[in-house]
Amino acid sequence: MSSPSRPQYLVLVLLAALIMLLSTAAVAQAGSLIKAACPCGFHTEVMAIFGGFVNFKTYCGFPVYCPDCATLAVANLYAEEVSCAGCPGSAAVPYDHPSLIGRPGDKVVASWNTAARLGRALKLTDGEYLCPVCKKFTLRFTHVGFWD
Ligand SMILES: [Zn+2]
Ligand SMILES: [Zn+2]
Repeated sequence: MSSPSRPQYLVLVLLAALIMLLSTAAVAQAGSLIKAACPCGFHTEVMAIFGGFVNFKTYCGFPVYCPDCATLAVANLYAEEVSCAGCPGSAAVPYDHPSLIGRPGDKVVASWNTAARLGRALKLTDGEYLCPVCKKFTLRFTHVGFWD
């Protein structure tokens, strides 16, 4: 058995490093558990957003606002058409859209690297967002934990 020549060895080391980097990235991409609440009394259940270990390539859950039925729900932003689950309306707006942000916060509540897929990284901050019920920019997201 001959030992690999130096260039081959380097390629092997680089490949190993790349594989380690990729597997670390997959582990780090654990979906977030979040909640949203507004002083008017509106609050959501715990929402599992982004992706899990098995589905992160095809699924990216994110809170969306449907102006047609005025609800906040989690939708798959990787779907060909992001539509409302509760009504035939098709104009569901992701909650990182400027029209839904009253004041961005300094702290990131949840973020997901979707630049390659969506052209932007998804992010929710501790700032103020549009409440689907009272329609004021007083809705806040909080981090509850991680899933998968
Ligand atoms: Zn709707
Ligand atoms: Zn409200």
